[in-house]
Amino acid sequence: MQITYIIKKSRRRSIAISVLPDKRVLVKAPYGTPERMVQEFLITKKTWITNQIEKQTREVQNAESLGLLSDDEIKQIKKKARKIFPERVEYWAKKIGVTYGRISIRLQTSRWGSCAQNGNLNFNCLLVIMPSEVLDSVVVHELCHRKYMNHSKDFYAEIDKVFPEYKRCKQWLKENGGIYMKRVVK
Ligand SMILES: [Zn+2]
Repeated sequence: MQITYIIKKSRRRSIAISVLPDKRVLVKAPYGTPERMVQEFLITKKTWITNQIEKQTREVQNAESLGLLSDDEIKQIKKKARKIFPERVEYWAKKIGVTYGRISIRLQTSRWGSCAQNGNLNFNCLLVIMPSEVLDSVVVHELCHRKYMNHSKDFYAEIDKVFPEYKRCKQWLKENGGIYMKRVVK
């Protein structure tokens, strides 16, 4: 299979690759990396790349069969998200025993949520069209960052304590999340 790639050079120490939605491979490499080295790296990762491209193709097909989201549908989803997230955050913050800052809702095609140092939270509105326990799992994840600003064992133990279904939800997101993101036409 022919692999198309683009190189982005920066002040990093090692080469990292990812497959873009258009199936091109994005190569992030340190300044001064010779093209030949990039190509050799790609050859060693060929199986991984092929699998990723197949996964992307499957996700696009699944997204199309579920239906792409119209501007109007996205507007409704955002409206629902602005109501639901503050409620779920309030509920879980009390259970976990943490405070939080502002909540922002965005339509994103790369992440599900984030928690800033100052406690401001950010959530992907697409979560409201998924099973409600999946939405809760993301809320709990971000709120547990108010106790641990990392992904350490202690962090996951904290999640497990309040939300034992976490692993199952995370797996669901891993399998289906990409499909939902591809329902958004860019
Ligand atoms: Zn996290």
